[in-house]
Amino acid sequence: MEVERDITKEMEQTKIHHKKRQVMIFIILMLLWEAGSESIQYSVLEETESGTLVANLTKDLGLRMGELAVRRARVVCKGNRQYLQFDPLTYDLLLNEKLDREELCGSTEPCVLPFQVLLENPLQFFQAALVVRDINDHAPEFPAREMLLKISEITTPGKLFPLKMAQDLDAGSNSLQSYIISSNPHFHVLTRNRKDGRKSPEMVLDKALDREEQPELRLTLTALDGGSPPRSGTTEIHILVLDINDNAPEFAQEFYEAQVSENSTLGSLVITLSATDLDSGSFGEVFYALFQVDDVNQPFEINPNTGEIRLRKTLDFEEIQSYHVDVEATDGGGLSEKCSLVIKVLDVNDNAPEVTVSSLISPIPENLPEIIVAVFSISDADSGHNQQVICSIDDYLPFFLRPSVENFYTLVTEGALDRESRAEYNITITVTDMGTPRLKTEHNITVLVSDVNDNAPAFTQASYTLRVRENNSPALHIGTVSATDTDAGANAQVTYSLLPPADPHVPLASLVSINADNGHLFALRSLDYEALRAFEFRVGACGRGGAARAGRCSVPEGPFPGHLVDVSGTGTLSHSYQYQVCLSGGTGTSEFKFLKPILPNFSPQATGKEMEENSTVRNSFLFS
Ligand code: CA
Ligand code: CA
Ligand code: CA
Ligand code: CA
Ligand code: CA
Ligand code: CA
Repeated sequence: MEVERDITKEMEQTKIHHKKRQVMIFIILMLLWEAGSESIQYSVLEETESGTLVANLTKDLGLRMGELAVRRARVVCKGNRQYLQFDPLTYDLLLNEKLDREELCGSTEPCVLPFQVLLENPLQFFQAALVVRDINDHAPEFPAREMLLKISEITTPGKLFPLKMAQDLDAGSNSLQSYIISSNPHFHVLTRNRKDGRKSPEMVLDKALDREEQPELRLTLTALDGGSPPRSGTTEIHILVLDINDNAPEFAQEFYEAQVSENSTLGSLVITLSATDLDSGSFGEVFYALFQVDDVNQPFEINPNTGEIRLRKTLDFEEIQSYHVDVEATDGGGLSEKCSLVIKVLDVNDNAPEVTVSSLISPIPENLPEIIVAVFSISDADSGHNQQVICSIDDYLPFFLRPSVENFYTLVTEGALDRESRAEYNITITVTDMGTPRLKTEHNITVLVSDVNDNAPAFTQASYTLRVRENNSPALHIGTVSATDTDAGANAQVTYSLLPPADPHVPLASLVSINADNGHLFALRSLDYEALRAFEFRVGACGRGGAARAGRCSVPEGPFPGHLVDVSGTGTLSHSYQYQVCLSGGTGTSEFKFLKPILPNFSPQATGKEMEENSTVRNSFLFS
């Protein structure tokens, strides 16, 4: 047991000694490295396969063939990685492993890995270095797939926008060299060299943005390295264009026209105006207001939100035919625009025609040819068809309407009127407009026809027979003749007179007299049947009209019956006889009509029978 322990102890001591020696050698090597003595440099591309020949040291170190083997040459690498080794047979220096420059050196360039070649017997060191050359095995890479930028549309061109850098782990020209951006009219990109050697992209605004035209942009930013071929990395730049209130509301038209019937009910929609604002949010919200109107009492109101213009007061076409209104649209940012609106009031047939008589001649004299009786004008407050009128009077009237200047008409007689056939006309002038519904107005005119003395008096009978009992008292009313005149008033007044007898021997004036006004006939003296049984005389009736007609008389003419008494003799008239006084009328027609018997102072014994019996007259007295 003791022996075993000792042996073990000895072995451990030997190991310690060996380690101590190794440490000492390493320290020496380190010192030599530090001394920076001349060294041989080899280079190898990174990622080269392990086992690749790096160098033939026999030649490079000026040694004899096989010397490396004899002197048991070794490669000592810095650090704990043995990336080089000797080929055990040829003692060529080979790569022991694949090297990654980026892992070994990072951004340090050149990537130099120092090593020593150690020879024994005698002990000799050679300094050497392996330069690991870069290959372009990395593409530039952005930290994110997308970058978001918010840029106001008001931003002026020339403004710079720094962007996040991409990273390329390679070195030198294989590392990131430049940035490019997808083609667009607004931006280009600059590659800025930073003090730390990195390159960062900066976007420059070339042309102003317009949110209303393009609210967002998506651009591709590409980072390129200098490799051959170059490698690249991309990211998307998402640009949100922030709104400013750079648009005023805009009406589709500068000028609008609307029509509304004058009888439209309150609240009726007249027109809806609409303005658009391209901005967003409140900058794009539009409010409407009436800006200026001709009339403070204008009958319209506008909904500030919808732009609907509605009626708030009743319209009257006859008062105002159109309204001029300016409407203002304002956005939430205070920008505004205006448009003009003309609202035409459409006529409705709400007025009947009106007749205004400007002159009326009444009464009008009869017998005149066509004369103007009335002048009147017609008006209708409406317009168009609603104002067009038709004017008429009844067909059967002897009048007609004649259009005069403008809207004047005259009412004219068709010809001479005859007062005696009709003295008064009620004429209804009917005026109808052409609107829908048709409205009608009737205007009554009363036309009186004034009399002209155009009618002679006419006796009611062609002849009269009067019977007078003889011995009558003087001034006895023996009868009445009557003539009528169809004229009116003074023209109709009749004056009676005895016409001068044809035979101047007849003393008519002493026998009979007549009341000029009423046609009463009187026997002037006591008549004597024996002396005069009958006599005949004529009475004239004269109208007492105007001067032109004065003296026009109706003179009874025609045959006289032969039974009239002869009154030419003298003597006392028998009391018991009656005289027949016949008067022939002017018409010459046939029949004689007897007046009622006129029997003044008629004796009690005288009867109708007696009168009848004595009715035969034997003598006749002819006037002519
Ligand atoms: Ca690269
Ligand atoms: Ca590389
Ligand atoms: Ca706006
Ligand atoms: Ca805007
Ligand atoms: Ca009207
Ligand atoms: Ca009308």
